[in-house]
Amino acid sequence: MFYPSPLNSLARGTWFKLICGASFGHLPAIRSLAIAYTLAGADCIDVAADLAVITAAKDGISTARKLAQTNADAGNSCLDFPWLMVSLNDGADPHFRKAAFDPSQCPADCPRPCERICPADAIDDRGVVESRCYGCGRCLPICPLGLIVTHDRSATPNSILPYLTAEDGIDAIEIHTQSGHLDEFRQLWSILAPVAHHLKLLAISCPDSDELITYLRSIHDTIAATYHPRPLPFALLWQTDGRPMSGDIGAGTTHAAIKLGEKVLAAHLPGYVQLAG
Ligand code: SF4
Ligand code: SF4
Repeated sequence: MFYPSPLNSLARGTWFKLICGASFGHLPAIRSLAIAYTLAGADCIDVAADLAVITAAKDGISTARKLAQTNADAGNSCLDFPWLMVSLNDGADPHFRKAAFDPSQCPADCPRPCERICPADAIDDRGVVESRCYGCGRCLPICPLGLIVTHDRSATPNSILPYLTAEDGIDAIEIHTQSGHLDEFRQLWSILAPVAHHLKLLAISCPDSDELITYLRSIHDTIAATYHPRPLPFALLWQTDGRPMSGDIGAGTTHAAIKLGEKVLAAHLPGYVQLAG
């Protein structure tokens, strides 16, 4: 008998996940999104590797599952849906940064273009509301005085390790990396490897470059060496972020994601390929 699960969705090509943002920390919004997307039958909800964020997402998923039990039309949501994924990085990455500026430096007559362009309503007269900022960078070039800067942040893998082994913990991890970061990737993987067999899915997100395919093969070989000669104990997914965090800025973003997806598919890397961006 066919048993619906996110793994089946990957195999059938119907997988879709909610990307909450690797540095998005607005807890009420995350909980509400988790409820809505669980009820919508999402296969996965991808959140920041932050304990408060994880708790908010799990609360949303559990609330939705209770709602689904009384709603026969809720589809997949009362089964193994969705998996909970957290995002980690192995170095500086726009997904893991926050904008900031000192509002006392802003002229009183500034028309505040930064506020208008922010897709997350993260800017008000107090500056940037850190929990809402997801690092998209749209506000940076628009300030006429160049007052807005970004601060890089790194997710801390050690803090989420207990959630990997917990029965009702994290199902999946996404690692954001980029060509040339193999040493950094290996360092991060050495922290995760002892408990990674608890995962259902490991996703790798990497922007395009001339060396992309060679780099992704090295990533695969690093992971596979941990389990050799056995197969990987989790599904592997390559996330092709055509233009990172660009979903709302118009023409070309979908084409960029598809073009990168085609490139990775053509390389026949072991694992699934998922579009993003
Ligand atoms: S525009 Fe983007 S980077 Fe700037 S504050 Fe808003 S979410 Fe953060
Ligand atoms: S655009 Fe620049 S100067 Fe104007 S309110 Fe925003 S940060 Fe301040």
